[in-house]
Amino acid sequence: MKYRIETDIVHGVHQTDPQTGALSMPIYQTSTFVFENAEQGARRFKGEEDGFIYTRLGNPNTNVLAQKIAVLEGYEAGIATGSGMAAVANVILATAQAGDHIIVDDTVYGGTHYLVEDDIRKIGIEVTRVDASHPEQVAEALQPNTRLVLIETPANPTLKLIDIQAVVDIAHAKNVLVCVDNTFLTPYLQRPKDFGADIVLHSATKYISGHGDVVAGVVVGSKEFIQKAYKVSTHYGWSMSPFNAWLLLRGLKTLAVRMDRHNENALKIARWLETHPAVERVYYPFLESHPQYELAKRQQKGGGGVISFEMKGGYEAGKALMDHVQLCTLAVSLGDCDTLIQHPASMTHAGMSEADLAEAHITPGLVRLSVGIENADDLMEDLDRAMRQ
Ligand SMILES: *Cc1c(COP(=O)(O)O)cnc(C)c1O
Repeated sequence: MKYRIETDIVHGVHQTDPQTGALSMPIYQTSTFVFENAEQGARRFKGEEDGFIYTRLGNPNTNVLAQKIAVLEGYEAGIATGSGMAAVANVILATAQAGDHIIVDDTVYGGTHYLVEDDIRKIGIEVTRVDASHPEQVAEALQPNTRLVLIETPANPTLKLIDIQAVVDIAHAKNVLVCVDNTFLTPYLQRPKDFGADIVLHSATKYISGHGDVVAGVVVGSKEFIQKAYKVSTHYGWSMSPFNAWLLLRGLKTLAVRMDRHNENALKIARWLETHPAVERVYYPFLESHPQYELAKRQQKGGGGVISFEMKGGYEAGKALMDHVQLCTLAVSLGDCDTLIQHPASMTHAGMSEADLAEAHITPGLVRLSVGIENADDLMEDLDRAMRQ
């Protein structure tokens, strides 16, 4: 990093157009790139000359986005992927093959859960699920063929935290790589690299975009690792579209101011929810009542924008809240300027058995709130009105 992070978020990687001087990078909406002659084409394919060939293999917009996230997260290189799930799959397939073993925390994004349980096991990669908030469980799960430890912190829905440094120390003693899904906090609020993580991935769909208009992902790490990840990504065809990269670079410019407001609003609302008669319990890392408050303060610069809370009236109260909010938007996803609310038991996880729900820590009255950047008082008034109805 050249400057402090707020400045690098705006400037970071050079984006002005060298040909016209346009401040905003043009959108290179092209599938292919013209060679001057056959020899140049050959040099580019052999990797003897830098330059673009075909957008699945690289494009100015997607490259700048990946490089910018790499700079902000403190790594050498990155690749942009078509979704956050493509980023997760990419990390796993670039680190492990049939016969290898990976360790995945038991509380991860739903898509990641199904990817490792269904598809990754099916191709012969062994998976052990542990509660990495107890790092000794990671130590116990390590095998001679372990290649990767994959964690998310904070993790949905209870906003459980994982001590990145503790997990890294255990994994590195056995030469195992650690990847952190940093979607919930972004490099502005948490830099896993500072605690030794080898790889960071994002669902850029969330705070990196911030505007709810793109599905995208990014993976960053060492040059050596990204070379492997690049191969996987280009072979499977997980590239991002140039226009999506352009939208993400645009959204990214306001990351620091958005995250400041998300933090401020979420802390205010979390504190207020703790005092609300209809609410049983609130989960938010920067509340003193969070069981890992000390770790949150050490590892994160802010609590982030996501709050979970338990309604006293259980399933019916959670469902009724969804039907009575007016300002909070009833939708999945998170990290948008708009406040999004959802009730997992009646919505995202409605198809799950009671045992699976319990395993995923999803209780009938649990509500997830992705606090936006509106006025916090308006949001509290909306929630209060809906809870009283
Ligand atoms: C949304 C999300 C993903 C998946 O990202 P998509 O962009 O939806 O594919 C992965 N990890 C976390 C933590 C997420 O919130």
